[in-house]
Amino acid sequence: MKKSDKLIVDGKRLDGRDLDELRPIKMEVGPLKRADGSAYVEWGKNKILATVYGPRETHPRHLQESDSAIIQVRYNMASFSVEDRKRPGPDRRSTEISKVTREALEPALFLSKYPRSSIDLNIEVLQADAGTRCTGINAASLAIADAGIPMRDLVVAVAAGKVDGKVCLDLDKSEDNLGEADVPMAIMPRRKLVTLLQMDGHLTPEEFKEALGMSMSVVDRIHEMQRNALMDKYRGD
Ligand code: ADP
Repeated sequence: MKKSDKLIVDGKRLDGRDLDELRPIKMEVGPLKRADGSAYVEWGKNKILATVYGPRETHPRHLQESDSAIIQVRYNMASFSVEDRKRPGPDRRSTEISKVTREALEPALFLSKYPRSSIDLNIEVLQADAGTRCTGINAASLAIADAGIPMRDLVVAVAAGKVDGKVCLDLDKSEDNLGEADVPMAIMPRRKLVTLLQMDGHLTPEEFKEALGMSMSVVDRIHEMQRNALMDKYRGD
């Protein structure tokens, strides 16, 4: 696709979605039996597996906090997750996403209950199509709940941005590449506490409000999907 190609035609996006429509979402809790907690989320063409170990003794020891647990997040994109093979291993982007994911989840946990321990969270991106940090945060939140770690609230993440001059919900890869802005956010829905807010690109203050409003309007729906996925596991579906 070229910059000049239209991404919105007659009010519809290239994949047929309305401007305020999410991609199809599937959530599964507990697909892996050996991790303390796990979750698999498909969000459009994104396919992401999150696993949790812990709380367990922190290694390396110099990272231990005497009065609290720490969360160690490793966000990793598999080399086969994108069109051109991705060079394996950490890079600036994965370091940034690991950090913002940790910060998005921390307020939901009772870290002071587990001094000197670590909650180790792995986010494996098996297939990427833009929006992987949000998909990863939704999956991680489910994996933490699956591990039986008490939480104040689940964490819901979703992005909105601007494509062809129009504010749109949940950009896919072509929209993210050629669009003008992307605003991922995460929130603890019951407490209405925003735990992640980033902006890539340019929006006017009005467009920013509109984008945030679009994301906010689907938070309860995503939260409901998360709760259903958790209940499905414990109902044995
Ligand atoms: P997010 O996945 O949270 O939207 P970015 O905006 O940084 O984060 O990335 C957008 C998309 O770009 C990713 O979901 C992925 O599809 C693609 N992408 C990111 N890094 C690479 C890479 N190294 N090689 C190819 N594609 C990539």
